[in-house]
Amino acid sequence: MTGTEYGLYIQGRWTTPASAARFSTFNPATGEEIGSFVAATPAHARGAIDAAQAAFPSWRDTPAPVRGSLLLRTAALLRERKEALGRLVTREMGKILPEARGDLQESIDFLEYMAGEGRRLAGETVPSELPSKFCLTVRQPKGVVAVITPWNFPTSIPNWKIAAALVCGNTVVFKPASTVAACAAEVVRAYADAGLPPGVLNLITGSGGTVGGALLDDPRIRGISFTGGVETGREIYVRAARGIKTVHLELGGKNPMIVMEDARLDLALEGLLFGAFGTAGQRCTATSRLILHEAIYDTFLERLLERVQRLRIGDPLDPATDMGPVGGPDQERRILDYIAIGEKEGALLRAGGKKLTAPPFDRGHFIEPTVFEARPEHRIATEEIFGPVLAVLRARDYEEAVRIANGVDYGLSSSIYTSSIERAFRAVHDLEAGITYVNAPTIGAEVQLPFGGVKNTGNGGREAGSVAIDEFTEIKSVFIDYSNRLQKAQIDPPAG
Ligand code: NDP
Repeated sequence: MTGTEYGLYIQGRWTTPASAARFSTFNPATGEEIGSFVAATPAHARGAIDAAQAAFPSWRDTPAPVRGSLLLRTAALLRERKEALGRLVTREMGKILPEARGDLQESIDFLEYMAGEGRRLAGETVPSELPSKFCLTVRQPKGVVAVITPWNFPTSIPNWKIAAALVCGNTVVFKPASTVAACAAEVVRAYADAGLPPGVLNLITGSGGTVGGALLDDPRIRGISFTGGVETGREIYVRAARGIKTVHLELGGKNPMIVMEDARLDLALEGLLFGAFGTAGQRCTATSRLILHEAIYDTFLERLLERVQRLRIGDPLDPATDMGPVGGPDQERRILDYIAIGEKEGALLRAGGKKLTAPPFDRGHFIEPTVFEARPEHRIATEEIFGPVLAVLRARDYEEAVRIANGVDYGLSSSIYTSSIERAFRAVHDLEAGITYVNAPTIGAEVQLPFGGVKNTGNGGREAGSVAIDEFTEIKSVFIDYSNRLQKAQIDPPAG
């Protein structure tokens, strides 16, 4: 079966440039072709920037509440299409259907949340040090922004960025991960069907290595919003610096869950299974390190291993499946390499570790849920694997658990299970991460809270929540002097 053919979406039209090369996406569970896409060139990327630049003045001048209404219409369309698009997410990316529906739901939630921002986009008013002078700030859009996204949340991460950019009055050139290009095209179709004016949102498919430079070097692109791997993020940051562009980076994670001796172990175990093996461990917030207090280490580990054996791996469209395939051949290779590294560096493999090759798994990329007993210095306990591989670590006490948790270069999400209120609050204070959960796993972001991390996870900004608009607006300070005379700040007022 051949996949659906898609074009680029530029200036409000789906276009297939003559003689354009094409590439395809494939179902990681079955190898079935999902879609065929234009492999855009730098010239196509520049065409998309032309369209976004031309559309900018009138979109900027469209009242923000009207821009917000468009997001509401897009949300309504995604809701109508949720089941069909959920199945597409599962088929193209491999996450199980309930999680794929969750991806769509997060998109809808965020669009609705950002639509309300169209009626806020708040600045501030502050007093002047001079009489008859009024001071305030207003938010203005940046202009054309580039949105570059990864494959693991094929609808929600694009929507987080696109909706926030649009409500603030920017126009967008969107470059999705190549392996989930059909999901990206369907996201763009929803905005188009909702009535977004031509040129306001443009889609460029094709290799990031090929079109990335055109986006990063073009002086008309004023902001870049990127989610992906650390190395790609670093390259983008450095390259965009030459053009003094603002760059928002959401990068990797190595998220710890601490289970203390006073935790409710049944609750912690359920949380761990969801956090570590949900989406086959391919969430930036996935629990990839389990830090157990030594008093419950053996008990908890035995219960965990017993539950891991019972996880059902299989067709992600089947409601009985707990865990589907990993994202594709590159992802599979990377995960298997890390499993080999773990064994070589002396971590103890306690569960899984293998690719499944017998039918019905032989056409897909399935890896067993894998558990290692590791030490904090092991590479599998410090580097992001982005797969169903858990490193279990032992801690003598709370202090050591926190030291281990903080002993990596990343700081996205973190979690502690404890029944002590004092320890819970200490952990909120002590854990070096952008997100801390108490008695809940490291995954489960909600759109009304900021999302992002510290250290190598990001460069300081946050997505989602009310602060999402900071990434996509410039703040202008405004001074209105109605005194009818020249007043000199810092000079005129009487000395204080
Ligand atoms: P990559 O960094 O490989 O790719 C991300 C995006 O960047 C893709 O669209 C890719 O295009 C594009 N790209 C690649 N090279 C360039 C370049 N030179 N210039 C411009 N764009 C480029 O990440 P993955 O897609 O593999 O995603 C997995 C990573 O994303 C993990 O490390 C994960 O932790 C991180 N992530 C972080 C999140 C967070 O919020 N902190 C959330 C989700 C994921 P193409 O596909 O064509 O190569």
